[in-house]
Amino acid sequence: MADKNFPLSGWSSAAIHAGHEQDPNSSHITPIYATSTFVFDTAEEGMERFASLDKEKVYSRWGNPTFKECEQKIAALEAFGLSDENGQPLELKALLHASGQAAMATLFFSTLKAGDKVLSHHSLYGGTYELLHKVLANSGIEPIIEDLHDLEKAEEWLQKDDSIKLIHIETPANPTIRCVDIEALTQIAKRYGKLVSVDNTFATPYLQQPFAYGVDFVFHSTTKFLNGHGSAIGGVLIGKDIHFMKTTAWKWHALLGGNANPFDAYLLTQGIKTLELRMERHCHNAMEVAQFLDGHPNIEHVNYTGLHQHPDYYISAKQMRHPGPMMSFELKGGLEAGKQFINRLKMCTRAVSLGTVDTLLSHPASMSHAGLSRENRLLFGITDGLIRMSVGIENVQDIIADLDQALRG
Ligand SMILES: *Cc1c(COP(=O)(O)O)cnc(C)c1O
Repeated sequence: MADKNFPLSGWSSAAIHAGHEQDPNSSHITPIYATSTFVFDTAEEGMERFASLDKEKVYSRWGNPTFKECEQKIAALEAFGLSDENGQPLELKALLHASGQAAMATLFFSTLKAGDKVLSHHSLYGGTYELLHKVLANSGIEPIIEDLHDLEKAEEWLQKDDSIKLIHIETPANPTIRCVDIEALTQIAKRYGKLVSVDNTFATPYLQQPFAYGVDFVFHSTTKFLNGHGSAIGGVLIGKDIHFMKTTAWKWHALLGGNANPFDAYLLTQGIKTLELRMERHCHNAMEVAQFLDGHPNIEHVNYTGLHQHPDYYISAKQMRHPGPMMSFELKGGLEAGKQFINRLKMCTRAVSLGTVDTLLSHPASMSHAGLSRENRLLFGITDGLIRMSVGIENVQDIIADLDQALRG
């Protein structure tokens, strides 16, 4: 059997090999363990597995070998190259979920109880915003939404309200790709003994590693770049307090029933293996596309942190390897121009979501946010002619040609 202690010095080596265990039936790829339950040879073996903190091979709502590879891979990537306080390689524990929303529910419910508050910021992912304002608020947990670019305001909140237990940040965030300073906010939070969680979905661990700044939790909707092919919904919660992750967080995840399924976990594992290659191409394409769009006569402005005029250009440059594949832009001509542009696209895909190999574009005002009043939409930064784009890994000249013909009409 292979020596699993072989040091993995490169990012893709870790993405490909970390978390993999030799299958007992010599299958090269970890099989899809499509089973609800696991067999005990003896009562004693059953007892042992129930008693173990790892809860392996008991029941698939609790854990499953196909999930395990994926969880270990994601934990290894978020920890890649990082050390703990003692200078040892950082150890993290990931819990795979059925969706990003399920992982987010585990995060909030395992860290907060009635009477507690969570401090977060504007431009959160819609599902997170609703979870905070509908589900959590209904359970006596109050969300506070502040502009967390303002570090003094953030500190003021922590000073005056001791019931804030968690700061949840999402960076970069929709729709204008705003970023907040993970390091600065974590330093403030830690002065007041607060937990910090980061939604790292847009960046992926390849572009940004929040644990480098001492955060407690990282969250991903694995539906996006980690899977990369748009073939499954999924979410993951990663934590550095291993005991907490294996007890309280694991318990909430099992009790809320947000477990992943083996087929989706298998797809996710295969997707992650090519994450570095895909991200390099996504990022390279995005920079070229942003430069093409910037200054185009039919475009009001481009929101991309790789362009100097973006308000968070420096924050993004400080904490991300590259500005990434996500951008948005405002068309001259408002709602009608937005619809017409979207309808004229030929190669690029009209869809919500992000992080797939193909370029996805959406027009939030007529699609995801059409149900909101214009006034409410504008509060979320969803202006009439705003187009959101997740730049894919097609050959960039074809992406630009498609955008060009759709812009010209
Ligand atoms: C998609 C997404 C989520 C929610 O994840 P699902 O997999 O759709 O449940 C949360 N945060 C961000 C930033 C997302 O893009």
